[in-house]
Amino acid sequence: MLTFSDLPALTGGNLLQADSTGVAIHQLLLDSRRVGQPGGALFFAIRGAQHNGHRYLADLYRRGVRLFVIDRVEEVLGGIESYPEASFLLVADSLAALQTVAAQHRRQFRIPVVGITGSNGKTIVKEWLAQLLSPDELICKSPRSYNSQVGVPLSVWELNSTHTLGIFEAGISERGEMARLARVIQPTLGVFTNLGTAHDAGFTSPQEKVAEKMQLFTQVDTLFYCRDQEAVHLAARELLPEHRTFTWSRFHPHDAHVAVNIAEASADRTVVHIAIAKPLPQEHTFTLPFADEPSVENALHCLAVLLWRQVPAAEIQRRLDRLVPVAMRLEMKQALNDCYVLDDTYNNDLAGLALALDALTRQPRRGRRTLILSDVLESGLPAPELYARVAAQLAVHKVERLIGVGPEISQHQALFNGVERAFFATTEDFLANFHPDQFQHEILLVKGARRFGFERIVAAFQQKIHGTVLEVNLDALVHNLNYYRVRLAPDTKLMVMVKAFAYGSGSYEVANLLQFHRVDYLAVAYADEGVELRQHGISLPIMVMNPSPDSFQKMQQYHLEPEIYSFERLREYLRAAHDHPLPAIHLKLDTGMRRLGFAEEDVAELGVVLQENASRLRVASMLTHLAGADEAQHNDFSRQQLAAFQRMAPLLETALGYTVLKHALNSAGILRFPEAHFDMVRLGIGLYGVEATGENQGALRPVSSLRTTISQIKKLPAGETVGYGRRGQAVDHERRIATIAIGYADGYDRRFSNGVGIVAVRGQRAPIVGNICMDMCMIDVTAISETQAGDFVTIFGEQVPLTELAQRIGTIPYELLTSVSERVKRVFFAE
Ligand SMILES: *Cc1c(COP(=O)(O)O)cnc(C)c1O
Repeated sequence: MLTFSDLPALTGGNLLQADSTGVAIHQLLLDSRRVGQPGGALFFAIRGAQHNGHRYLADLYRRGVRLFVIDRVEEVLGGIESYPEASFLLVADSLAALQTVAAQHRRQFRIPVVGITGSNGKTIVKEWLAQLLSPDELICKSPRSYNSQVGVPLSVWELNSTHTLGIFEAGISERGEMARLARVIQPTLGVFTNLGTAHDAGFTSPQEKVAEKMQLFTQVDTLFYCRDQEAVHLAARELLPEHRTFTWSRFHPHDAHVAVNIAEASADRTVVHIAIAKPLPQEHTFTLPFADEPSVENALHCLAVLLWRQVPAAEIQRRLDRLVPVAMRLEMKQALNDCYVLDDTYNNDLAGLALALDALTRQPRRGRRTLILSDVLESGLPAPELYARVAAQLAVHKVERLIGVGPEISQHQALFNGVERAFFATTEDFLANFHPDQFQHEILLVKGARRFGFERIVAAFQQKIHGTVLEVNLDALVHNLNYYRVRLAPDTKLMVMVKAFAYGSGSYEVANLLQFHRVDYLAVAYADEGVELRQHGISLPIMVMNPSPDSFQKMQQYHLEPEIYSFERLREYLRAAHDHPLPAIHLKLDTGMRRLGFAEEDVAELGVVLQENASRLRVASMLTHLAGADEAQHNDFSRQQLAAFQRMAPLLETALGYTVLKHALNSAGILRFPEAHFDMVRLGIGLYGVEATGENQGALRPVSSLRTTISQIKKLPAGETVGYGRRGQAVDHERRIATIAIGYADGYDRRFSNGVGIVAVRGQRAPIVGNICMDMCMIDVTAISETQAGDFVTIFGEQVPLTELAQRIGTIPYELLTSVSERVKRVFFAE
């Protein structure tokens, strides 16, 4: 085990202060929110475009962390003397030190390690190889797609003496990065999945990209790749002699170790003939349980590795038959009795459990935290030790109830005496005893190994609402958040608008993610929305834009800060404040919007009122709102508004005797008026994936997609009509009409009737026929002959952009997003 005192020699750093240096290092920590057992946790203060780890030392110290690697002494808040019991190592670069420590850990294990890279398929090949080799090996693999400069060291750190094989993936975006990852992974075997054609900003040419990725394999004994990828083949030949490669090919059968011939492809499987020339000629036929091109390619990479290891053909086929698709995402689903289910039913190893519990802990409390967990497989640990570790994880993550499913976990139930618990030998037992009443307003993590079929448990929890779903991609939301964040100066604060149910995407879930990502403020339209957020554990400051006097009491109780826009509101608030102190206010200044706010001629009088009431009233901020921030034609007017704001605000600050936060810009304004970010900006629609100026739409990712299903398909003979008012006229030929489960009561605008609206089915577009009804409508699928009842239909999302739909009915994306009715089930997911 490495100790802190090993680090100076290892990293070339200097010990600045040494207290607990003999402590063995158990955990590498990058995020102050992930502290488990603080003893033996080593924190690396890493600086990135968004984050600076040095900022969180006080928080970590408070939680008991004592070992720190830093690269900027001057950024340690209060100086290192403020942390008397801590040990500090000062290095040139904390990220490099993290990688060095992980590389040293890796060096202790003399086992084969597979390194995987390529443009696509890394995670799937890693997961499948692990599935296929698990009967022979105890495998340590990267959790999910932990393949970055920080993800790789954390993955490799998980290696322990029980493992017989490591499988790690590596992903890069710039030159120089792969050599660093290779130093950490030290692969003895390599898989190059493929080289995508997409242009990468970080590289000047495809040759440079492939050469950089190849840097992972300079030391491998054997590299596996597909001979048909010409660029990969050339680069591999340049790097390695032929005897250190093992290739497969469909189109160059005489120039590869394994010749592959696709004999038969049906809807869900592919039959391949394999011929191997050396050392002994052999031929086999395998059936891959997949039909799509990427899955077949990924499976063939894995097959090559198994053939190279000389696993008998019949055994290979047995293992292939059990291969299952990899669920790449952890989904949060609304469930019965106001519960939420975090659905992670794909695999269940220790590292994956830790990540899923992290995700659970990041949800603010809504009642209990319950974990439904199957036997944990493939840990390599003796069962008592394994379940003792699981129990320790539950304690760290404050799980209050455990429902264990499986013979092993049931046998070790005594280890879980800290939590409320119940055990079932099988999933069927659990389902037979399932009573919805036992689950109320709580958050459940459902985590089971594949063979337990926990998707049946998730289905039991899911409300049986109709098949229309608004999918919210939380990764895309974070991507968009960061797009705006990097445009702000480091000390500019960020307020995010979560009014109108977070523009339709679900206020509590979005607010929760924003809180996790440490935005500074939230804003809602009405006090009730703020109360709802507080009841779900949101503790960020919240501004309420339309506070009514009868809600002042509630605002005080839940610490919600009102926007005050008129003398009348101000007087009412002061009157209420007479009885008890009230939260700080935000003054809305009207500089040209002419909607709400104090006008410039009100400033003198307002100053007097504020001065008189200085002891009872605190002002948190002053704001104005631009009328035409998104359009260049209004630039002069916008600048006049900003100038008026800059005249008014200082006068009011003088009257107050202190400075307050000043903010003026919405999403469009953030991009168009960088000189006017002031102390804070107010991000709205951009977060949800719509770039209001229309100029940078490609930089944002769509966040919501509205999806439904086909209920029935009918043939419409020439001349017949469809729907109410007989509006859908049949033409001179027969058509196929599909009825889909969405109507105006779900928020699907009636103006989309009669061909105005367009949806996507199986990647193709289909027009609306006839009038939109209350709960359903009809589409023409004549041109999409393979459609069937039950198919998914995209109303808006990747294939049907919101901006286009909005134009079709002469509205704006804001209206479409906020119209999706609350009866539509929201599903949140992260990749
Ligand atoms: C809604 C709102 C915003 C955000 O506007 P977007 O165009 O969605 O970015 C900013 N400020 C105020 C006062 C708002 O009401």
